[in-house]
Amino acid sequence: MAKIDPKLYGPNTRAVRAGQVRSAEGEHSELIFATSSYVFQNAAEAAARFAGDKPGNIYSRFTNPTVRTFEERLAALEGGERCVATSSGMSAILSTCLALLKGGDHVVVSRNVFGTTVVLFNNVLSKFGLKSTFVDLTDYAAWEAAIRPETRLLFLETPSNPLTEIADIKRLADLAHAHGCLLVVDNCFCTPVLQQPFSLGADIVIHSATKYLDGQGRCIGGAVVGGTKLLEDVFAFLRTAGPTMSPFNAWVFLKGLETLYIRMQAHCENAQQIAEWLEQQPQVEKVYYPGLKSHPQHKLASKQQSGYGGIVSFVVKGGQQAAWRLIDSTRLFSITANLGDTRSTITHPATTTHHRLTAEQRAETGITGGLIRLSIGLEDVADLKADLRSGLSA
Ligand SMILES: *Cc1c(COP(=O)(O)O)cnc(C)c1O
Repeated sequence: MAKIDPKLYGPNTRAVRAGQVRSAEGEHSELIFATSSYVFQNAAEAAARFAGDKPGNIYSRFTNPTVRTFEERLAALEGGERCVATSSGMSAILSTCLALLKGGDHVVVSRNVFGTTVVLFNNVLSKFGLKSTFVDLTDYAAWEAAIRPETRLLFLETPSNPLTEIADIKRLADLAHAHGCLLVVDNCFCTPVLQQPFSLGADIVIHSATKYLDGQGRCIGGAVVGGTKLLEDVFAFLRTAGPTMSPFNAWVFLKGLETLYIRMQAHCENAQQIAEWLEQQPQVEKVYYPGLKSHPQHKLASKQQSGYGGIVSFVVKGGQQAAWRLIDSTRLFSITANLGDTRSTITHPATTTHHRLTAEQRAETGITGGLIRLSIGLEDVADLKADLRSGLSA
């Protein structure tokens, strides 16, 4: 079976068929190539593969057919030339930085990114002489002011976690390019279904496949997507350093991608209903969801995204005590820091995902004691409301 040309097909078709090659057995689903290495027909073929004169697999730290199918499918969905799969979302960010940057370089990072990403820049990459400046995601003057002659890369996530702030990707891509920098977008919350950063000028898209791409809470994985030239360096780093994706995980993510479009649609529909309902509850002080007219960047979200996502955050009256009481009284929501699952999850950011921040930093960034983050799953909305209602009146 020849691979389909993704350019000829719509996104739903690409999600279920891009990158697939069938073996002579005619299997309908993709094979899991559980092999660490590959056999050559003779010494000359081995030499040709190692010299790069003949395409083909050598060793699964370099390439693996199941992993390649996942890479090609995700690249086809994001509209990127090439994708490299990694062992986790964090190793996708690490590999991008170590492959494309060197000591003495400087990066500007949204301070509203995933907590471990901040730790990666501050505690790990800083040891190798990489300098970083953190700016408010939506303060464009601050982004521009932070750029120095040695700045190479701007890094952001939109919508942000947990307050769902939205940054104008096009505007930041133009700013990056005007200064000879790359724009890297962590597209974990939206997935290519809701947001296409390459069409807005981004150079690299990062994924934690652990979240919506799997969508069923089974595996850890990540990916870097981008142009062939940049990705060649990321691939070379990965091949040498080794944080590659396992074929089993790649297969699980392929199964995840097959339902990505219908899942994201359902996540968005459910989250919209929950957000609108929460906004009407007297015990709720504020709701953060880009699909609400009250969201400060609702217009930008409507222009930049084709849906508002599955993450809804809100503040309950009564601070941390009230928030914990609500969390503890739910029966359906899973109390876990993970998100992007078919099962709805509930998190208290101030004491979990954002506990490393000082009280002052939390106040400054809006991570208050009463703030609760929901990742809305695929359960019946009526059941989710009933669960939250009992919590709100607890
Ligand atoms: C979870 C997450 C990561 C890290 O991914 P892992 O797969 O856990 O390593 C990076 N960025 C965002 C936005 C995330 O939510």
